[in-house]
Amino acid sequence: MVFHSIRLNAATGFFESKKFNNFAGSVGLGMIIDDFNGDNFDHTDLDFIHGGMIILGQTGLRPIANNAVPSGTKSWGAEFKEASIKYSNAYLSVKGEGASMAYRQHYIDLDPTYTDDFGDPLARITFDIEEQDRQLTKFLAEKCEQILLEMGADHVDTSRELGPYNVAEYQSTHNTGGVIMGADPETSAVNNYLQMWDCDNLFVVGAYAFPQNAGYNPTGTVGALAYRAAEGISKYMETGGQLVSK
Ligand SMILES: Cc1cc2nc3c(=O)[nH]c(=O)nc-3n(C[C@H](O)[C@H](O)[C@H](O)COP(=O)(O)OP(=O)(O)OC[C@H]3O[C@@H](n4cnc5c(N)ncnc54)[C@H](O)[C@@H]3O)c2cc1C
Repeated sequence: MVFHSIRLNAATGFFESKKFNNFAGSVGLGMIIDDFNGDNFDHTDLDFIHGGMIILGQTGLRPIANNAVPSGTKSWGAEFKEASIKYSNAYLSVKGEGASMAYRQHYIDLDPTYTDDFGDPLARITFDIEEQDRQLTKFLAEKCEQILLEMGADHVDTSRELGPYNVAEYQSTHNTGGVIMGADPETSAVNNYLQMWDCDNLFVVGAYAFPQNAGYNPTGTVGALAYRAAEGISKYMETGGQLVSK
């Protein structure tokens, strides 16, 4: 099973009388709220499970590359120039990153056509957006919009719909899964110490082992899994080759 975190460029608010110094910041700076992630909120009457984080980043936006303008503005010429100058430090984007759950129809297999330099088949990923992802996106996008309206935005452009997955445009670089961990060798490749069920002296650390993609960036969890694998290796050394966990 493979996953891509569901990235939302959810809502952009334009302010007539507030400035935010968008040019200042650093790449990882920002605020995240976790109120609509996992089971942190009531899912009654909602058509999806899990959730995602909501982010307002202060990444230091460069001019030219970051000149958002309200919908309806021409994308060229004097009108665009005037609006992009006016809003360059007077807009904010509230975004989200949602969970990507496991589906039987999302998987990696060997490509029947394409090979590497050695003639071995390349990995082929089969993945698409599901109804769960669309419902989750719509819900989070509306929360992002509400945040901007509460902040006093005069105009908010909200992107509620998630289209089919498309490799031609950036959607996510959080590709995880493929060789998942689990409790049962029949349905997983490694146990929860990242020890291969079929090869007990092989522990492999990585995001490949995620059994689903939570509504978070993956690298922190990969770091935690490294500690977990180290603990497993240590136990394995003590017990002399037995699988350390089911
Ligand atoms: C542009 C970009 C931005 C990202 N931003 C963030 C972020 O802000 N926060 C976050 O949490 N995550 C981010 N990610 C995701 C994160 O980088 C990955 O989820 C994470 O690096 C996965 O770790 P990994 O160890 O599973 O795989 P990798 O880091 O990809 O490590 C796999 C390693 O295996 C090596 N390898 C492959 N094949 C072989 C082979 N045959 N023999 C030997 N070695 C081999 C590769 O060279 C590589 O070093 C980003 C990813 C990208 C691409």
